[in-house]
Amino acid sequence: MNGYRYLAGIVTGSVSLLKGMRVTFANMVSRPHTVQWPRQTAPLPARFRGHIRMLADEETGFPRCFACGSCARICPSACITVQGRKPGDRKKKVAVRFLLDFTKCSLCGLCVESCPARALAFSRDYALAGYRDTEFRTMDLLEGLASPFQF
Ligand code: SF4
Ligand code: SF4
Repeated sequence: MNGYRYLAGIVTGSVSLLKGMRVTFANMVSRPHTVQWPRQTAPLPARFRGHIRMLADEETGFPRCFACGSCARICPSACITVQGRKPGDRKKKVAVRFLLDFTKCSLCGLCVESCPARALAFSRDYALAGYRDTEFRTMDLLEGLASPFQF
């Protein structure tokens, strides 16, 4: 009787070992799901939402924003501060200050949808890092864009 139990234990143990090894070998030859970040980056989904960014007018290079304030009013978290000025020869204002408090933004997209100038879009930036939250409280969305004003 003891000999029978002994043999049964060997058989069930071997079957269990083979099942485990099958999983191990299957994963050894399958494609990895991870990437060697930061040398490699994983492909982002098409609808990924990073922080909002300001788009430039294709002709002038100036911000598309004409400072109507619609995005700031609709933002449920009051993240947006915008100011505009009218250049002498133009009818519409141009944004001269556009700050985002990204620490409060929920990426809801209401600002992007409500903008009549289609001036806002989501960035693809997912690797934001900083030492203090203050670095993300006043993100300047006009940085790097041309301006009709000399400051
Ligand atoms: S995505 Fe939503 S929370 Fe973020 S700035 Fe726009 S409206 Fe505000
Ligand atoms: S809704 Fe558009 S045009 Fe109006 S202030 Fe916001 S970004 Fe500028």
